Amino acid sequence: MSIPFVVRAFVTSLAVALPVGVLPAQTLVLRGATLIDGTARPPRPDAVVVIRNGWITAVGSAAEVAVPRGARVLDLRGQYLLPGFIEMHGHVAIGAWEIDSSGSRRSLRYAYDEAASQELTRSQLAFGITTVRNPAAPTAEAVSLRNRVRTGELPGPRIITSGAPIDAPSPISAIDPAATEAEARAAVDRQAAAGVDFVKLYAGLDSSLVRAAVDQAHRHGLRAVGHLWRTSWTDAAEAGIDGITHIIVNNAKLLPPAAREPYETSIRNGLYMYEWFGKANFDGPEIAEMMRALVAHRVTIDPTLVAFEITAWHDQPTFYPVEADSFVPPSFLKKWAAMNALRGWSAADYAKARSYFPRMLELARRLHEAGVPLTVGVDGANPWLFHRELELLVAAGIPPADVLRMATHNGGIGLGLTSEIGSVEVGRRADLVVLSADPIADIRNTRKISWVLQGGRPARPAAFLPERLRAGRVSRP
Ligand SMILES: [Zn+2]
Repeated sequence: MSIPFVVRAFVTSLAVALPVGVLPAQTLVLRGATLIDGTARPPRPDAVVVIRNGWITAVGSAAEVAVPRGARVLDLRGQYLLPGFIEMHGHVAIGAWEIDSSGSRRSLRYAYDEAASQELTRSQLAFGITTVRNPAAPTAEAVSLRNRVRTGELPGPRIITSGAPIDAPSPISAIDPAATEAEARAAVDRQAAAGVDFVKLYAGLDSSLVRAAVDQAHRHGLRAVGHLWRTSWTDAAEAGIDGITHIIVNNAKLLPPAAREPYETSIRNGLYMYEWFGKANFDGPEIAEMMRALVAHRVTIDPTLVAFEITAWHDQPTFYPVEADSFVPPSFLKKWAAMNALRGWSAADYAKARSYFPRMLELARRLHEAGVPLTVGVDGANPWLFHRELELLVAAGIPPADVLRMATHNGGIGLGLTSEIGSVEVGRRADLVVLSADPIADIRNTRKISWVLQGGRPARPAAFLPERLRAGRVSRP
């Protein structure tokens, strides 16, 4: 990091912390809420949390923790205090896929949209998301966006970013291509030099390339996260991968032997993501071995169930409530719909995909019960869906208290940042969310956000929203 960068970061953060003419309340006390702290500890009613200079310095009951003299006190009686949510699959440097026919053959190009990205990061804060893992975006743009949020130049959750996905060469121009182990290592080196926080490995890499890329990432002190297909989850875990994205296992080796060839030959139009679930035997030796490897290597998984719900119900435009789409720039909705249409599914295809969706939920529950740390992510770039993902995890049969830990503490595990974020404990950053109703009684209450605190600064959620959404009433664009 260059010296001018450090100086600039320091000056900007001071500017944010010290509005002209206002002395800062250095100490903030949150008093009276029921604390759901992100750990396995049961909720604690009437809690007191002391925050000094953006960090938590005391947590306990009113009898245990005294309110420091001169502190600003926020009375949160009747409310619920949680760690800020950690969105593990938020493509914040957003763009849309566009078909590029300018070259000798058609390719897919990712068109980055700066204005849309800035609107998205504000909306994420309004939905209680204080940290986001960005799993793939154009490398330079992703690093730049992360840096500008970090220095306070732009509002947004703390961003932990990858660069472009590293994948086998394909017509998708937004990837960092690697056909050999040496190229995989070189791609990791380039991204490390560009300043990414971790690397994203993609579906076309075979297990030797995954192994090389993971090894090279670890040499740089970076984590490696994979959206996998050619490489099985078992092999990736054995190779030391740190995280896996999406519930879609897809790999033929993890099917019973007789189902493998029919599966490989039936792949078409994205339906294979669902059809794998019709052929897999969750009680068979392949899945047992996969679970063992995932647990042994502490691999975290963000199932992004909602991404597969959206796909399977795409032919039913009123499936989600009207406000669901409001938090995405309208131009994006059009582009995403066009990409979905490219799949060309028939009514029967949609019905088939929907029929396998419960099996996706079941695998998520089984992973959790086996001891695999699940995290919460949505894919796409819509913070409304983060809360839908929580509902789906509960619908899968996972207790709401466990799902809340996935949305907070487990994200910290997946990022290697549990000493800073994901729990309300002494020494953690005061990135917090306050709800007006109990999320354990009804997970849908995670949407009832009354305060969001970023680095100890409390704000009402609407204050973060882009201008066009601030009026209160939202309608489908
Ligand atoms: Zn993604």
